[in-house]
Amino acid sequence: MILSKFGQKMTQKSGILQLMDDLGTALTADKPINMLGGGNPAVIPAVNDIFQQAFEQLGSDFLNSAGNYSTPQGDKAFIEALADFLNRHYHWGVSAANIALTNGSQNAFFYLFNLFSGEYADGTNKKILLPLAPEYIGYADVHTQGQHFVASKPLIEDVDYQGQSGFYKYRVDFDRLVVDDSIGAICCSRPTNPTGNVLTDDEMYHLARLAEDNGIPFIVDNAYGMPFPNILFTNATLSWNPNMIMCLSLSKIGLPGLRTGIIVADEPVIHAVSALNAIVNLSPTRFGAAITTKLIKNDMLKTLSDRYIQPFYRQKADYAIALLKKALGDTPMKIHCPEGAIFPYELCPK
Ligand code: PLP
Repeated sequence: MILSKFGQKMTQKSGILQLMDDLGTALTADKPINMLGGGNPAVIPAVNDIFQQAFEQLGSDFLNSAGNYSTPQGDKAFIEALADFLNRHYHWGVSAANIALTNGSQNAFFYLFNLFSGEYADGTNKKILLPLAPEYIGYADVHTQGQHFVASKPLIEDVDYQGQSGFYKYRVDFDRLVVDDSIGAICCSRPTNPTGNVLTDDEMYHLARLAEDNGIPFIVDNAYGMPFPNILFTNATLSWNPNMIMCLSLSKIGLPGLRTGIIVADEPVIHAVSALNAIVNLSPTRFGAAITTKLIKNDMLKTLSDRYIQPFYRQKADYAIALLKKALGDTPMKIHCPEGAIFPYELCPK
């Protein structure tokens, strides 16, 4: 089989292909498996019960959704409920015109990175700036031509966690960060996969300013952040402005199979994403929207996140740390301060 350059690039071995293959294969293994890797969310019975009930109560709404395409922008009722939710809780002043859905947020990053980097009409080539590395492995191979990332090494600061020493935290090294004409957008995940780092409000403010001053968007991957799944163990606020492209997902609340990603952005970005949706997917999937629209309207998704999801992962993080410390004994090591997300925490030699 002879493939185009695009075909060759997209079918080569990639980290994310290997990871997702491993996760899927593990699920069908005939031996009991402890899912310790990847971003697959855990089963949390109290949360799953609510999703099961929401599914059973769908009634005729099921066929209204499953039996019809939405517009390329996504399910209207869900988008309106979400705009109302975001204004009620965060006063963002957004309307339905600021929200588009995608088939998972991975799908959103494929669109966004190809929209804001690569070759431009004036002949320039632009890159996505990751202001703090390590970053999410799933970004690595999404470009249709070449690789278009530039990453910046973090500062490493010793910190305490719950009164214990032996932890560190990554911080953006603003002195090293260069934003010039070769940068098409700034992007970060917050909380970060894989380190569990949460960029501080101050760092977010500075990154947002940098992006705005340079006339480029600031893409925020909020897959683990507020308001759902809210897997945050540190104080952080969630803000948005029209220069930000905020990406959310229904995956980490426990519904990854429904492939529902959400983009909150200025209207031209929403138009661009909708146009891509039409070409790539006709319209995004509606099942996640069907299950969760009521749960957004009555704040249940937020309540589940605050009451069950966040404490569940916090407890797991503390347990993982206790196990690590016990198992590694006096081995010199430091652990990245667990500030959020769902990962076994990064270690570095002391
Ligand atoms: N962003 C981060 C940081 C992730 O860890 C993941 C998945 O693991 C995603 C985005 C993509 O998730 P989804 O496409 O299921 O929304």
